[in-house]
Amino acid sequence: MLQLLRVDLDKQNYFFEELSPDYAKLGGRALTSQIINREVPATVDALDSQNKLIFAAGILAGTNFPNSGRLSVGAKSPLTGGIKEANAGGNAAQKLAKLGIQAIVLEGCAHGLTTLKIDSDGVSFIKADPLKGMGNYQIIEELKKEHGGKVSIISIGPAGEKKLKAASISITSPDFHIRMAARGGLGAVMGAKNIKAVVIDNQGSKKVEIQDKEKFKTAVSKFTKGVLAYPMIEALKVFGTPVLVNMINSLGCMPTRNFSVGQFDSAQQISGEHIAELMDKRPNSVADHKCMSGCVIGCSNVFTDEKGEVIVSGLEYESIVLTGSNCMVDDIDIIARINRACNDIGVDTMDVGAAIALAMEADILAMGDGKGALALVNEIREGTENGLMIGNGCKATGEKLGSKRIPQVKGQGLAAYDPRGLKGTGTTYATSAMGADHTVGNAIPNPLSQYDPSSPEGQWEMSSFLQIYHAAIDSLGICLFASLPALDFADLQGHMVQGVAAMVGETLDEDYLKQLGIATLKAERQFNTKAGFTKEDDRLPRFFRQEPLLPSGNVFDVSDEDLDKVNAF
Ligand code: SF4
Repeated sequence: MLQLLRVDLDKQNYFFEELSPDYAKLGGRALTSQIINREVPATVDALDSQNKLIFAAGILAGTNFPNSGRLSVGAKSPLTGGIKEANAGGNAAQKLAKLGIQAIVLEGCAHGLTTLKIDSDGVSFIKADPLKGMGNYQIIEELKKEHGGKVSIISIGPAGEKKLKAASISITSPDFHIRMAARGGLGAVMGAKNIKAVVIDNQGSKKVEIQDKEKFKTAVSKFTKGVLAYPMIEALKVFGTPVLVNMINSLGCMPTRNFSVGQFDSAQQISGEHIAELMDKRPNSVADHKCMSGCVIGCSNVFTDEKGEVIVSGLEYESIVLTGSNCMVDDIDIIARINRACNDIGVDTMDVGAAIALAMEADILAMGDGKGALALVNEIREGTENGLMIGNGCKATGEKLGSKRIPQVKGQGLAAYDPRGLKGTGTTYATSAMGADHTVGNAIPNPLSQYDPSSPEGQWEMSSFLQIYHAAIDSLGICLFASLPALDFADLQGHMVQGVAAMVGETLDEDYLKQLGIATLKAERQFNTKAGFTKEDDRLPRFFRQEPLLPSGNVFDVSDEDLDKVNAF
């Protein structure tokens, strides 16, 4: 049975703890959200030392169940003031599980900038002064030199040290590219705790125990087969998530010019197909890149310049749209460099992308000025007034600039799907405890379903179902793309449940995923209620109801009554 590792940063102490009955058999988001709801005072400032920062491995982490190595990061969010879980790939979760650790709970605040090293001997507290102000790419190189090439590194860049509200947390992939737990400003919580990096070394550790190996093997094999048979998987392998550019653009729902238009005239220039063509010609570019070991899909990529120098990995749909079409920038190389700068400084490409569009609308720089956008992002590192403004995300930027069209909910910027045409996603943006977030319940139509995303009717049911499902998937540690086929092929949900059952050696209810998801959402909602959120916070900004989205003319017209029905447990 895995344990909790509690680290008292004030006293430089740590201890291992059996999972109490409240936390038993939980992992990932279920565990971070239950701990925050029970242990963090809801009204405390997110940067106060009473806030806790939790890194939790998913329930299936450390096993060979496909794509099950997501790491959940949880805390009270400085961006939203509510509960937050952001998860990312990389290999940290698998290493933690192999060390016998289900989650690390960071409590209090270190007295000076510190790196934590976690290995089979326990926890070491290492002074991190030489890393002060350093960006994530250099930190990774320095820590690799010091601790070897078999570790996983979790770190923050200058934005986290500056405690900016859009600060993210970087997690290394097995080949030391960066994945981001980007949303909600959790990098600022890490910075407030004076933790620059966490190095995880599982050399000499044991395998994660599986109680019923044969049953587990069968579940793995059937799930893998089912995932690989899903029609969209091949496109993800070839084009990665940028395959969505042409798809969402043709639906008329791709945020363009600060969420004023749903189609971008230059979509082809930033599309997955164009990126694939460029990557074919460029040395060292990799399609089908895997962000974690055990991935059977490979939706990530390594995007290089003409000489073969790596610009960024992975170049993803949401980053491309929020810093591309939404800012009227159509140069994919500039977009990739903005992405790299965000990764290095340690900020969320989505919130910062939305902030740049607002700065463009306010004539801080010209709409479509990609080079200017890159320079503005680099100002976050320098700490200029405008740099700090966009580093605090789109809500802070819009308020400072007097914008009446700030695309945010509960303080978090919308993802790259316009809610006026994708009303199920809009319903999720409005009602999720996480703020506007696509990963917690993105309702995208596909040829296998009859779902109509533009109707105002029934969206609360779709959003409720998806929010429950994804809360469970985030708790298992399975990546979104491996979980999508199970929405259309329900037998795959059964194989996930059987995988967990075989691992823990128990029989689980058929509706195990539903129960896990509901319990997690309830804890999240409870925390936000204690923090002062009401149903008035479960609304989209007014302009989405008033301004028709061009060219479709759609507005967001899901009723408030329906929004209030979402997961009203
Ligand atoms: S499918 Fe993509 S996000 Fe999921 S594990 Fe593989 S590379 Fe990572």
